[in-house]
Amino acid sequence: MKTFQELGLNEALLKAIEDMGFETPSEVQEKAIPILLEKDTDIVSLAQTGTGKTAAFGFPMLQKIDSKSRTTQGLILSPTRELCLQITQELKNYSKHIKGVNVVAIYGGASITDQARAVKKGAQILVATPGRMQDMIRRRLVDVSKIEYCVLDEADEMLNMGFFEDITEILSHTPDEKSTWLFSATMPKEVSVIAKKFMYNPEEITVGTKNAGTKNVSHEYYKVSGRDRYPALRRLADANPDIFSVVFCRTKRDTQNVAEKLIEDGYNAGALHGDLSQNQRDLVMKSFRNKQIQMLVATDVAARGIDVDNITHVIHYQLPDEIETYTHRSGRTGRAGNQGVSMIIVTQSESRKIRAIEKKIQLNIEMKKIPTGMEICETQLYSLAQKIKNTTVNDDIFNYLPKVEAELEDLSKEELIQRLVSVEFARFHNYYKKSKDLNSKFEDNPSEKTKHNKKESTRYFINVGERDDYNWMALKDFLKATLEIDTDDIFHVDVMESFSFFNTPNSLQEKVLAKFTDFQLNGRYINVEVSEKAPRGRSGGGGKRKNFRKGGDSGGGGYKKKFNSSGGSGGNYDRGKRRSFDNNPESKREGSSGSSRRSDSGSKPKYGSKGNKPGGFGRRSRK
Ligand code: ADP
Ligand code: MG
Repeated sequence: MKTFQELGLNEALLKAIEDMGFETPSEVQEKAIPILLEKDTDIVSLAQTGTGKTAAFGFPMLQKIDSKSRTTQGLILSPTRELCLQITQELKNYSKHIKGVNVVAIYGGASITDQARAVKKGAQILVATPGRMQDMIRRRLVDVSKIEYCVLDEADEMLNMGFFEDITEILSHTPDEKSTWLFSATMPKEVSVIAKKFMYNPEEITVGTKNAGTKNVSHEYYKVSGRDRYPALRRLADANPDIFSVVFCRTKRDTQNVAEKLIEDGYNAGALHGDLSQNQRDLVMKSFRNKQIQMLVATDVAARGIDVDNITHVIHYQLPDEIETYTHRSGRTGRAGNQGVSMIIVTQSESRKIRAIEKKIQLNIEMKKIPTGMEICETQLYSLAQKIKNTTVNDDIFNYLPKVEAELEDLSKEELIQRLVSVEFARFHNYYKKSKDLNSKFEDNPSEKTKHNKKESTRYFINVGERDDYNWMALKDFLKATLEIDTDDIFHVDVMESFSFFNTPNSLQEKVLAKFTDFQLNGRYINVEVSEKAPRGRSGGGGKRKNFRKGGDSGGGGYKKKFNSSGGSGGNYDRGKRRSFDNNPESKREGSSGSSRRSDSGSKPKYGSKGNKPGGFGRRSRK
């Protein structure tokens, strides 16, 4: 993490920063300030409210303007009077040690003559709401023709409030050479329109999640077995005839391989990765921009600079390690007001990552089925019909038509259509006629999974049962949350009166036993042991326990008293109770050893005491 000094701010500002008690820059400040200080560039910055955007543009603007000149050089547009006053006050605090700076607030509902007078005295920076600003421009009470820096703060909010026309009008009075700095919490269509219309090649910075969090991108995932990844990719491409996509792989080698296979199979594909020369990469990007390449297979690093607007699909051939990277990838589509789709191909074991991503982007990722071969043929035929319908007839064709017509003379219109379409159909039908269902079987058919696991699974004994208000579902939920494993990895759950049995894959045995070593729930020891055999059945109870510990808490009776079950001992599980297990097994363990608490306080907030929100910061208390 950098200091304010390292960002390149001058003494006067550093002194003010010290006065205000800011210790370290917030994320958006760290990212934006060096760029704005160093270059005269346009910038689009996405960050939630409360992340310190005012200083992110305020500091550079104050450092860059000429405080000796009385010309108006900076204009900040903000949606409301409150924000306008707030920003003005902040800028006054920031510029406390810079001589001669004058910041004037311009907003409706107050005397326009007073504001005009303040401007006339010489204001280098105006902070304005769009309505009043436009009014003052019209009446020639302000001169914005020498503006060098224009900030559109809370751009999404301004557009929500219907200020598009006013902003357009105001900006038309400002010089073209100025830099425009746009700040927004979200990037809806309207904001991209503004960015496109008024900005030149803007730098983009994002704090926390970005575009993927907006409704311009829908997210979906497809579960397949590992060896079906490539065929699944083909189907997704075939099911979307007009696809224009970036396909992300994790390594350069996979990137190259997938691209080569696609090309072999007749797709307009290309690879983009770091092993290519700059010249090769330029060529690939050129073909992609011209849409000669429909599927650009790329690594994350190589795709970083892709600024193509009409990408219809982002396909995650493999998921990245970092969730943040997922957001960056998905942000390649749904740009400039278009709708985009982010498609994830996962295997069973990777599918748990989906939940983590959903949490991060705060959106639902819909599970979808890989289309069947016949569905794809249908889609392709329909698409062909539409293409035929919409094709503009080439004039040069008329020279050849008599011969062609003669050849086809005997065919009726129906026959003609049938044959025309069959040409295309054959291509897909040949490939798909014997194709199988690629969707991972585990989801549809649990018995298959069960069969699969029977041999390689471990059966356990656990000393909780119906008396403790568990039924199989509740126990499964509890195990899932406590062990932090997939529900699919817990099966054959049999709940008895005072104890229960369950299975997991062998690979998880170590983890399970480790977790339940000295494990307490409401002050009671929960004991889990490997069970000797794995018979199943209502009467048998599920096998003998190996090394059943004598005495202690695992003894058959008696523990009900010790178990302070808060929800009473009724047989039914109420939802609230279950949910507390679902979300956080720790929540039921109040009063247990201090170890968990210790680890809590161990994780330091990012920017001091209040630093628990993403991209947020704390402030040292003023003395
Ligand atoms: P935003 O405009 O992004 O909603 P603000 O710029 O209004 O956020 O900042 C929110 C609050 O945080 C303000 O009171 C501001 O003074 C304070 N603040 C800004 N930057 C820092 C920092 N680096 N450290 C501590 N506090 C800060
Ligand atoms: Mg703000």
